[in-house]
Amino acid sequence: MLYIGCHLSSSKGYMAMGNQAAEIDANTFAFFTRNPRGGSAKAINPEDAAGFVKFAAENNFGKLVAHAPYTMNACAADENIRRFAREAMADDLVRMEATPGNYYNFHPGSHVKQGADVGIELIADQLNTVLTAEQSTIVLLETMAGKGSEVGRSFEELREIIDRVRINNKLGVCFDTCHVWDGGYDIVNDLDGVLGEFDRIIGLDKLKAIHLNDSMNSLGAHKDRHAKIGEGHIGADALIRVINHPKLRGLPVILETPNDIEGYAREIKFLRENYSD
Ligand code: FE
Ligand code: FE
Ligand code: ZN
Repeated sequence: MLYIGCHLSSSKGYMAMGNQAAEIDANTFAFFTRNPRGGSAKAINPEDAAGFVKFAAENNFGKLVAHAPYTMNACAADENIRRFAREAMADDLVRMEATPGNYYNFHPGSHVKQGADVGIELIADQLNTVLTAEQSTIVLLETMAGKGSEVGRSFEELREIIDRVRINNKLGVCFDTCHVWDGGYDIVNDLDGVLGEFDRIIGLDKLKAIHLNDSMNSLGAHKDRHAKIGEGHIGADALIRVINHPKLRGLPVILETPNDIEGYAREIKFLRENYSD
């Protein structure tokens, strides 16, 4: 089963997202848990959430991959920014329990000249403060392109974070194809080798979701600019091999390509046509 979807707006609630997903033949989706500018998040309507949980089960949806705001930086040098990151994530994880058992993806952070080692410690500190043994949500560290001082540009950095987190059975990784490519992993010519490396360093059991994006830049560019499927340096064939790879089958696949809803519908149709059940 191919679980595929795109980013949807959460402004009208869960049922609105579920219906919109169904209209474009999606059976998972991503959404931002709150406004990236910060402040308090909109309250969740428990009836809307419960209605969606039923709808998702009836329509065989895969796990959702919620996205934390981009402005969340767990390893900022400024304590106020770190506090926002901690409080927003803790609050988001409470809210995620309205739709139990899904994924919550976040960008590990930017160490802003403090060094990756300090960044890794601060990110792990935040996760040790926020994760609970009772939560049903799995928190995902996103693989990053290595733009600026981003932490998580290599599998080794992600492994170092995971190793420092006590409740790390609530932690996983989201594999962003544009970021991994920009980070220097050749998923076009050696997908098996890249996944083998992921398995050796992190363990494929930790790989929980895929962000499927083409890239405007070349291998190792450390840029992070997404392109539509087939319109970038990765290309449609390589992305089709990603969704069909035996070690990745069944994971939720989220498109973050520069598209409106019709563009997403076309990409979903194209990828379903190129998926072998
Ligand atoms: Fe992301
Ligand atoms: Fe992504
Ligand atoms: Zn990106």
